[in-house]
Amino acid sequence: MIANVRLLAGRLDKIAPSATVGINSLALKMKAAGEDVMILAAGEPDFETPDHIKQAAIDAIWRGETRYTNVDGTMPLKQAVAAKFKRANGLDYDVAQITVSAGGKQVISNALIATINAGDEVVIPAPYWVSYPDLVSLCEGVPVIVPTQAVNGYKMTAQELDRAITPKTKWLILNSPSNPTGAVYSQGELKALGEVLLRHPHVFVMTDDIYEPIVYDGLVFTTIAQVVPELYERTLVVNGVSKAYNMTGWRIGYGAGPQSLIKAMAGIQSHLTACPCSISQAASLAALTGPQDFIARQRDVFCARRDKIVADLNAIEGIECPLPQGAFYVYPSCGALIGKQTPQGKVLQNDQDVVTYFLEAKKVALVHGAAFGMSPCFRISYAAAQEVLDEACRRIAQAVADLRA
Ligand code: GLU
Repeated sequence: MIANVRLLAGRLDKIAPSATVGINSLALKMKAAGEDVMILAAGEPDFETPDHIKQAAIDAIWRGETRYTNVDGTMPLKQAVAAKFKRANGLDYDVAQITVSAGGKQVISNALIATINAGDEVVIPAPYWVSYPDLVSLCEGVPVIVPTQAVNGYKMTAQELDRAITPKTKWLILNSPSNPTGAVYSQGELKALGEVLLRHPHVFVMTDDIYEPIVYDGLVFTTIAQVVPELYERTLVVNGVSKAYNMTGWRIGYGAGPQSLIKAMAGIQSHLTACPCSISQAASLAALTGPQDFIARQRDVFCARRDKIVADLNAIEGIECPLPQGAFYVYPSCGALIGKQTPQGKVLQNDQDVVTYFLEAKKVALVHGAAFGMSPCFRISYAAAQEVLDEACRRIAQAVADLRA
């Protein structure tokens, strides 16, 4: 160590490693060491990538598609993405408005790097997905966190948005269905937000639609550019194959938006990764152009799990679990557990203490609400086998029963 020399950049002071990824890695390590851990931390479908998608990847390898591709996606994949936006969302994009990256995360990162000047503000409704504020901070922007209310289903209202916007606002980040609450914005709610945005022409919208296919109870997914067409020119739609096609490890996300932004993002990506993985792109092409029927079947399985886990959690005194309308997370509050004492004599001070207690005492890995900007809560991913979910709920119930006032 050289005296007075600081290796790490100051901007890192404002960010922390991803809590979802971190807790998941810890739980996997415990499992590898032989511990009987229920891993409900990172959210990823527990279903297999369908065979026809795997086969497309294998075929691509044998065809020799093992080299760099076009920087932000092969032409056939971009065309398939444009066709998906037309088919599913009624949105028209030229291929020059489409980008493909190593996961939705990279689409979001590229866009923020391309647009954020130091001090620019990004409005983020809380609870939010862990990575949004940190990615904004990494670009030296300022995350403006807008707490939402449980009574509004954890959805930001038009008034809350209006109050959060300043002359420095660059983006609003929307995520519906939401990670971590499962909240789904209705057409009317998106329209109301859109009307606010129309009064503030300097604000752009980044809408993370990655959980698009996972909506329940007959709700219909909509995205803001579809509901408020006047916003088309200042909307970046982010999506990907991870959640829809069980392809989290393949790392393919895509986006669509103004051509100038997409071009700038490609320039950044040319330096960062050169292109997304060629084989994963071939697999994603098969995903987007192949059979789609299994997606609804999987959604029904998720829905049955949702109903069961919400009922099981609400049966535990001290835990209150709202019914989410989409995605595969529940976000119960655990306020009644704060201040209680564990059998080991520790007083639970916050939701991080609660999830640490669940992990240490009962080997159930969850993510604390503070990581998502709303406490005292925790997130459970129910993208896991029913027996795992049932056992996890039994253990949580036991852990809660073991607490003393
Ligand atoms: N999106 C998933 C989650 O929230 C995967 C982990 C991550 O990238 O945060 O758990």
